[in-house]
Amino acid sequence: MKKPHVVCIPYAAQGHVNPLMKVAKLLHFKGFHVTFVNTDFNHQRLLNSRGSDSLQGLQDFRFESIPDGLPPQADVNVTQDIPSLCISMRDTCYEPFRNLVLKLNDSGEVPPVSCIVSDGGLSTFTLKVAEEFGIPEVVFWTTSFCGFAGYVHYHHLVQKGLVPLKDESYLTNAGFLDTPMDWMTGIGDVIRFRDLPSFVRTTDSNEIMVNYVTGEIAKAKDATALIFNTFDDLEKDALDAFRSQLSLPPIYSIEEAECLKWLDTREPNSVVYVNFGSITVITPQQMIEFARGLANSKHTFLWIIRPDLVIGDSAMLPAEFLEDTKDRSLYASWCPQEDVLNHPSIGGFLTHSGWNSTLESICGGVPMICWPFFAEQQTNCRYSCAHWGIGMEIDNNVKRDEDTLLSFGNSLFFHSFITYSCAHLGIGMKIDNNVKRDEVEKLVRELMDGDNGKEM
Ligand code: UDP
Repeated sequence: MKKPHVVCIPYAAQGHVNPLMKVAKLLHFKGFHVTFVNTDFNHQRLLNSRGSDSLQGLQDFRFESIPDGLPPQADVNVTQDIPSLCISMRDTCYEPFRNLVLKLNDSGEVPPVSCIVSDGGLSTFTLKVAEEFGIPEVVFWTTSFCGFAGYVHYHHLVQKGLVPLKDESYLTNAGFLDTPMDWMTGIGDVIRFRDLPSFVRTTDSNEIMVNYVTGEIAKAKDATALIFNTFDDLEKDALDAFRSQLSLPPIYSIEEAECLKWLDTREPNSVVYVNFGSITVITPQQMIEFARGLANSKHTFLWIIRPDLVIGDSAMLPAEFLEDTKDRSLYASWCPQEDVLNHPSIGGFLTHSGWNSTLESICGGVPMICWPFFAEQQTNCRYSCAHWGIGMEIDNNVKRDEDTLLSFGNSLFFHSFITYSCAHLGIGMKIDNNVKRDEVEKLVRELMDGDNGKEM
């Protein structure tokens, strides 16, 4: 009962739960009692897949859950509808979260709650609860620091009249998109306008996601401390610039079954690992381009295809492709990614440049082919390819994102809504982008056999 008791609460998506779970484990290892708070929806998913025993936890590491505030949608994966989930959690979770802390304090079974570690995206209501109980709150950002910096600079972009974009033609104007952002603290020597997070590159002054993210960042300044999931050697310039120039609180950086059996049978550095994370969706045509590119590269590959990765019902890999590659391919719907990236057989990673995936790839020493989907993945891609020299970018990926936005009114709400409509409701088709099999083949060969791959 004398242990310090930390309540950890992630935003309800895979790329947020995983890194906060690591923080929770570190704190537990250091002697904290931990309560880890998922949404009811994710808690139920865990119960369904792992059984209730697995969530009993240890005596001093327990799971709790609160509602996400969305209407019950039993057949829908709510984590994909990003704007609705963000706004719903921000606006409805205060009370259940407060009641949970109250319940823990009153239970007499666990030590009183002594601090909160909250996802940055939930700062508004979690800080209110911390303040009410008079306990410190540490805010944890799961994005890359360079991506975070793009959001911090949003109001500078507005002041300079660069955003909201005057009209949609700017989204495809290559000259404009290549504008250097050299005035930007910390990241200006690396990025161009096109590398800023997609939410920021908008014509809409009321863009839901940029307002949400910048609002939560502004709130997070009230935190006792901020934690970024990064390390100094990787993002030192950006971190140092912000340490000295912004009135932020102290910044600490922390360092941190079948697939594997199959990988054991493969030669070292011989397998291309393909995984676009937990949210990205692709069109059937894009899937075919990736498949043909992989087949033509003649390399062995492990391809993770989530059930909701491909839009619509027509997600079929061509029969002759399957036949042609059957001795050198493995498919799964999910895998223990960190273990995969640390496996000696993996020689390269075709990724959507999610920050967790990027960090895990770096830690596994695996070079990347980058195909960013949205948010600050474009920034991560730019840093990986142009600054850290550990990735190669598939051409025209920025255009893809912008084509989509352009076609649907240039608002992330629409973007996500379209994604949701296409992937879950089956009532839409996203515009194809220009990923081409020849380029996939060329980059895979370069990554696995070429000088560039070795260098990376
Ligand atoms: N992940 C995994 N197995 C998979 C796909 C993803 O373990 O088959 C994990 C991955 O290791 C990472 C997280 O899910 O920790 C995805 O986060 P990221 O930031 O890369 O992308 P997001 O899913 O948020 O787009």
